[in-house]
Amino acid sequence: MEDKKNGLQAIYDDFECAAAPYKVEAACAKGCSFCCSDAGSIHITTLEGLVIRDRINRLPRPRQKAVYKKLAVDMKQREREKPSACPLLMKNRACMIYDVRPFACRRIYSLAVCSRNRHPMLNRQVIAQGDEAIRALQQLDDSGYSGHLSYILHMLDTPVFLKAYLAGEYHPEAVMAFGKSHGIIINRVIGQVAENLKPRSPAADGDSQSSQ
Ligand code: SF4
Repeated sequence: MEDKKNGLQAIYDDFECAAAPYKVEAACAKGCSFCCSDAGSIHITTLEGLVIRDRINRLPRPRQKAVYKKLAVDMKQREREKPSACPLLMKNRACMIYDVRPFACRRIYSLAVCSRNRHPMLNRQVIAQGDEAIRALQQLDDSGYSGHLSYILHMLDTPVFLKAYLAGEYHPEAVMAFGKSHGIIINRVIGQVAENLKPRSPAADGDSQSSQ
């Protein structure tokens, strides 16, 4: 799992490097928390969830309890399809887990100041780089899942699930009911679909035929 956590950081760093020239023009400023307070689905992988969970569990006990309470409220709100600010956004509008925030947050910036009627504006190239990084994150976490932050943290807080996940076991049938009702993605299946959709050049086809 440690190797995978390092792999996670490498994907974040590669993206940061590739997106840096575009982010120079960003209108984002310290204290702006538009993306966090008017948060849509904050999609994370189970591996990212594990890192975030470790961080939450290192907080002082009362703070930890407050965060888990907020996560439970967020889960209920979203199950009712009601808007909900990120449970990790603090009163001073800062992110409680900034250095381990998930990729969904790292990829967002805006070329113009956001408002209720103006959502973040990104360069097209960065959107494509971000989509590529998500594929890499799902490939890296190929025995895991992806979904909204509080749903994934809820799964990791289920002892049977956590034990199987940490052991690298892959039992998608065990999370089928929760997964279906909460829009959880099976990373391995998404990876296979993406692989099958990849354009194949005639040369590549020839290579694979000749190797059979
Ligand atoms: S995890 Fe942090 S950066 Fe991401 S939405 Fe929540 S408060 Fe904002």
